[in-house]
Amino acid sequence: MEIIDSHTHWGPSVTMGTEVTTQEILRQAEQSGVNQIVVFPFPSTALADEGVNQRLLNEATKIKEFIPYYYIPETMKPIPDRKRFYGGKWHWMRGTQDSSSNYRALEDPKLGEFIEASEEIDLPIVFEEELAFTEAFVERTKNLKIIIPHLGMLGGNPIDFLSTFKARENVYFDTALAGSNMVMEFIESIGHERILFGSDIPFGTMKWELEKVLSLSIGDDEKEWILSKNLLRLTRLA
Ligand SMILES: [Zn+2]
Repeated sequence: MEIIDSHTHWGPSVTMGTEVTTQEILRQAEQSGVNQIVVFPFPSTALADEGVNQRLLNEATKIKEFIPYYYIPETMKPIPDRKRFYGGKWHWMRGTQDSSSNYRALEDPKLGEFIEASEEIDLPIVFEEELAFTEAFVERTKNLKIIIPHLGMLGGNPIDFLSTFKARENVYFDTALAGSNMVMEFIESIGHERILFGSDIPFGTMKWELEKVLSLSIGDDEKEWILSKNLLRLTRLA
């Protein structure tokens, strides 16, 4: 079975003063039996120097296991199409990371253009904000595919995210750092087609996060969707 990690951070982190190297990600992938890895830059690094998107792309041309995502800058520049990015990362736009959204970002006239362009590009965006912000964003698009990391854990209560987006077929969730019981609750409610396996390296380890998904009491076919097929379909790599 092909296994793809849909959520890892690559490169230096300005705030943490550390670096996640290509070698470290490949080491964890080999140790866990993961075939391909979605990689995106650390927020603090991308905000300090947007050039890290290009460096990530350069690295991904050398490392065949890498599936690079574009860090969406505070200028709300859409994912540059045809440049071999397979998705985007939207992270607390102009807000405080992992803690509070900046609702003025929703008033920016550029947001409409961003959403329109992103719908056209039709690549998934890993989208992390508070629940109310996420809801306001999702209201403005019918078909833009967004993936909410950690089942929404950092933006509010996962159960509230679940009930808010249950009927929204374009909203997906990743399993990174979430508890097994909560992952099961999501699968039972919205099915396995909208759940993706992610490790969130370096905040989680690939081996632990993968074992968590492998040990869920669901069928192998459902696991396969969570472990690779949903991601392949979203990124059109299939
Ligand atoms: Zn992350």
